[in-house]
Amino acid sequence: MGEEIRQNYREIRTRIDQAARRTDRDPRSVTLVAVSKTFPAEDVLALAPLAPVVLGENRVQEAAAKIEATSGTPGLSWHLIGHLQANKANRAAELFDFVHSVDSQDLLVRLGRRCTQLGRRLPILLEVNIGDEESKSGCTETELPALAEFATTLGSIEIRGLMAIPPYLEDSEAVRPYFRRLRELRDRLQDRMGLPLPELSMGMSHDFEVAVEEGATFVRVGTAIFGGRSYLR
Ligand SMILES: *Cc1c(COP(=O)(O)O)cnc(C)c1O
Repeated sequence: MGEEIRQNYREIRTRIDQAARRTDRDPRSVTLVAVSKTFPAEDVLALAPLAPVVLGENRVQEAAAKIEATSGTPGLSWHLIGHLQANKANRAAELFDFVHSVDSQDLLVRLGRRCTQLGRRLPILLEVNIGDEESKSGCTETELPALAEFATTLGSIEIRGLMAIPPYLEDSEAVRPYFRRLRELRDRLQDRMGLPLPELSMGMSHDFEVAVEEGATFVRVGTAIFGGRSYLR
C-alpha cells in the first residue's frame, strides 16, 4: 500500500515535470500538493521517505489529528486547501504552513489577528470563483482587487497569489480557459498593485497537466496519489 502511494506520487511528479518542460517552465517552480483528505495518517507517512512533501487538507479538524499524529516526522508541511469557516480561523492559523482558500475580509482579519498573537507570518492565496456559479467558495472577480489590497495592509499575512477550483469537466482541455483566466487575473492584479504574486494554485488529479501548462505553481492532487475516496468512513 505504502509503496503504491509512493509510486503514484513519483509518477505524478514526473508528469508535472514533463508538462512544465513542454511550456519552457522550470519544473522546480511547480509544487505537488498531495491531497490527503479522508486518508489516514498512515498513508501520509508512506510519503515521508520522499520528503520534503506538501500535504493538502480541506478540513481543519481532520487535519489537526493528522498533523498531531505525524508531528515527529520531518519534512512534511501542511496546506489548507478547502473552504475555511470563520470559527475555525484561529485553529487554522495555528496549524497550517499555508492557506490556499481565503475568500473574505472577515477571514483575513481573523487569520491576521491570530498570527499576530502567535508572532508568525502566514502565506495565503486568495480563492477566486471563476465561472462556477454552483460553488459557494471563492470571492468574485469584482471583489478580488479590494480583497487583495486589504490583505497587504495586514503585517502578519503574506499574500502570495491566487487559487481556484474550476468546474469539473470530463475533458481536461475544456478546463484550460479557466486556468488561463486565473493566470490573467493574477497578471492584472500584480500590475495594478505593483506587488509580486508568484503563486497560482490550480489543477487536480484529472487536469493538473493542463494547469501546469497554463502556469500553475501548486497542483492539488488527491485521488491519483492516494486512490479513490470513500466518504463513508
Ligand atoms: C479534494 C480536493 C482536491 C484533490 O482532488 P482530486 O480530484 O482527488 O485530485 C484538490 N483541491 C481541493 C480544493 C480539494 O478539495
